[in-house]
Amino acid sequence: LRADPLPGIASAKGAAGAVLQVRDVTDLRRLESMRRDFVSNVSHELKTPIAAISALAETLLDGPLEGPPIARRFLKDIENHADRLHDLVVDVIRLARVESGRDVFDVRRVPVGPAVEEALRGLRAAAVKAGVQLSSVPPPEAAHVRADADALITILDNLLTNALRHTPAGGRATVEWFPDQVDDRPVIRLRVIDTGEGIPPEHLNRVFQRFHRVDPARSREKGGTGLGLAIVKQMVAVFDGAVAVESEPGRGATFTVTLPAA
Ligand code: ADP
Repeated sequence: LRADPLPGIASAKGAAGAVLQVRDVTDLRRLESMRRDFVSNVSHELKTPIAAISALAETLLDGPLEGPPIARRFLKDIENHADRLHDLVVDVIRLARVESGRDVFDVRRVPVGPAVEEALRGLRAAAVKAGVQLSSVPPPEAAHVRADADALITILDNLLTNALRHTPAGGRATVEWFPDQVDDRPVIRLRVIDTGEGIPPEHLNRVFQRFHRVDPARSREKGGTGLGLAIVKQMVAVFDGAVAVESEPGRGATFTVTLPAA
């Protein structure tokens, strides 16, 4: 939005108002079209597992299946699809809550170390299963950010889950953090570094968009909802922070979250 009149029409009375209105409508249209895309993406993502669950249940009910092992496999597939539905609904609700505004968060002085430890604890079993070494590199002095403690853990959990998903066995995922400054304001930079497959350059600035995936089939297969980074981006913005990514394909990715220091 621009409140000042455009150069050249500065003398025309009411020009500023007109400019404001036109841009307003453009923004509204864009917002509306984003909302429509989101609803249609969510519907599409929901339809696939629901259709699969129906088909599997129908086949089971139609029986007779050749023995319990096959029935068990069908039930396992139903469970996997149901888990996917659950994760998607949780992420859609989480994104909607973040977008609804600041008041859903308890913003206070949060020590970074314990939040990192908690996020790592929750992922230990997954890391062992993936054969990826998880570790943290704390700075010499304790660091604090202004954020919501649970949201900080969610941010770290989303980034670390991605690191585990995209790093082959034998690789590493590391969290490090350190104080820095942005325009004279003290900040804490938190880095999640992995040694995995990395992200092709043409995808780098799109991975934060909802449902954007480098390899959609693989992301779904690995349990991704396609919303993890969109949630991270929105949450970080609520705390007046930012998130960025760098990657060298084949050598890994580094996500850097910058939050105001407290
Ligand atoms: P998803 O649920 O698919 O992981 P995200 O929003 O978390 O959704 O991430 C979007 C896409 O970004 C992923 O599908 C993947 O292609 C890419 N990506 C995210 N993190 C990494 C990473 N650490 N290494 C490689 N690719 C990644």
